[in-house]
Amino acid sequence: MITRKNTKPLEIGNVQIGGNSPVSIQSMTKTPTSDIDATLKQINSLYENGCEIIRCAVPDMDSAIALKDIVNESPIPVVADIHFHHELAIKSIASGVHALRLNPGNIRDHTKVKDIVSKAKAATIPIRIGVNFGSLPPVGSIGKTKGISRHNKGVEDLPRYNKNSNVYSQVDHMVRTALWEIDILESLQFYDIKISMKAFDIETTVEAYKSISKLVPYPIHLGITESGTKDSGSIRSAVGIGMLLYEGIGDTIRVSLSDDPVEEVLAANNILKSLNLKNTGITLVSCPGCARADVDIINLAKKVDSITKKSKSKLKIAVMGCEVNGPGEAKDADLGIAAGVGKAIIFKKGKKDKVVNADEMLTVFAEEIKKMESDYDKNLIQG
Ligand code: SF4
Repeated sequence: MITRKNTKPLEIGNVQIGGNSPVSIQSMTKTPTSDIDATLKQINSLYENGCEIIRCAVPDMDSAIALKDIVNESPIPVVADIHFHHELAIKSIASGVHALRLNPGNIRDHTKVKDIVSKAKAATIPIRIGVNFGSLPPVGSIGKTKGISRHNKGVEDLPRYNKNSNVYSQVDHMVRTALWEIDILESLQFYDIKISMKAFDIETTVEAYKSISKLVPYPIHLGITESGTKDSGSIRSAVGIGMLLYEGIGDTIRVSLSDDPVEEVLAANNILKSLNLKNTGITLVSCPGCARADVDIINLAKKVDSITKKSKSKLKIAVMGCEVNGPGEAKDADLGIAAGVGKAIIFKKGKKDKVVNADEMLTVFAEEIKKMESDYDKNLIQG
């Protein structure tokens, strides 16, 4: 059982982050934000696959203006991702975004930061400070503008190569940058803050998140940056994000992949399901197959996966390659299929329910899944 850190809750639209709310899934659009139709199409497809919050990059004024229509039509809350430009943040707030991702330390003119913060306060929207290993400010400039956060107790104990030479470890550099950015917002009495500490290297990322989580009460957005393509990036993200979630750290996650963002959301769903942190969706148990398998188990598992991927029902479904071990190995599954020679057994909670011919096993199993989903939904409605 994972005990999650109880962080200071905040709201992004209708999604609560932190406190005792479930870990939410977010992603980022990859269309030009100024192309409203393409962006909304991508948001809708992400939403259908389980995305709960969407972030859009705002590289120019057209994008900030386009956010108005995007926010109005989007089924999920929209976060504006801003770098450096004060005027883009102001316009995005005016467009009605539900949150900002912005590093106040990147905006040199303090009056401009004050302006953004007062408008974010008036709109009651939070700000995520996103510390990225690849874009840290030089060590010498950290804290020079506004000092270190009131949450600095313990920061002196963070790893540093040499306490006297001002040469920081990568982790300490990231943590100090975060504390400096946090302090800029806190000094303006702004506390609806969310933090991310992303690096490609897992050890650096995990240590940076663990350190900041000890020092501040704010909710944590987890991610491994530039993690790679669908295969390698999903595994890298699962390892890094999974280690932190298992320690109770993390309130919302984004898997970053060089692929269709739907793949990011599917990977995020799988990470949460693997740790029993997801309250909805089917978990698929399938055996790898071996010489005992009587069917093409790989193909069968893929077909069942594709018909259950978008389900919102919290069920465990098993696809097993033989009758000998299948029902026993997946006895905690709500519903399962174990293929035999020319026939298959459909079982519920490890007990045989019916026998079907091999040529109709997928059709019958799909019907059984549907029936179980509908019973699940009815039970949910009846409480
Ligand atoms: S369930 Fe049967 S086919 Fe699948 S791995 Fe186990 S023994 Fe092999």
